[in-house]
Amino acid sequence: MLSPEEHAEFLLATETVRRAALRYLEVMRSVPHVIHFIASLQRGVDSVAQTVAAGGPQFACKAGCSHCCNVRVEALEPEVFQIARELKKLPAETLGEITRRLQQHVAMVSGMPLAQQQSPCPFLENHLCTIYSVRPAVCRKAHSFEVAKCEEAGAEIPQSLALLLKAEALMQGTAAAYREVKLAASGHELGQAVLLALADAGAESRWALGEPIFDVDAC
Ligand code: SF4
Repeated sequence: MLSPEEHAEFLLATETVRRAALRYLEVMRSVPHVIHFIASLQRGVDSVAQTVAAGGPQFACKAGCSHCCNVRVEALEPEVFQIARELKKLPAETLGEITRRLQQHVAMVSGMPLAQQQSPCPFLENHLCTIYSVRPAVCRKAHSFEVAKCEEAGAEIPQSLALLLKAEALMQGTAAAYREVKLAASGHELGQAVLLALADAGAESRWALGEPIFDVDAC
């Protein structure tokens, strides 16, 4: 529960982000630009996480620890397109293997209640993220001060409230700016949305024209 001061600070930060993002999105309307702009949100969340970590206490997170990659992950439309663009640069055989993995993932989680979607992320391999440089903002926000709590099913993870609020302000403010210029921006199940983006060559263009591409979530 936030204090009235924390709540007011959060609303102000969200509004500041929304206005800054809107200034860019109102001018830069080409498809590559509006997709690429989402990287500024991701850099912002990284920067907040680095600042909080530098101020201590240290996060328990380290490479090879992937407890937080076993939950339902959601990404905004431009994040999904950004990931699909990176995957399309891979050799056909590798892309085919990733597509098969995404199909298996979607088949597994489809129809499952959201709270039960605790399967490994389809982009997780040997406990490492295979799309690390373009992973969604929600993944960049994830952290813990105690790995034992991450291992405990249903436990409350000790986290930095400052990081969570600043990251959330960045995410909500940016998404609001996209929506204000009539570009759909809301959370979609990562595996299913990326699979759709890979399969539909016209998805980016239709999204840029205001169509809600991933609103057919089956999971
Ligand atoms: S995208 Fe990467 S960091 Fe995010 S849940 Fe999947 S494997 Fe983990």
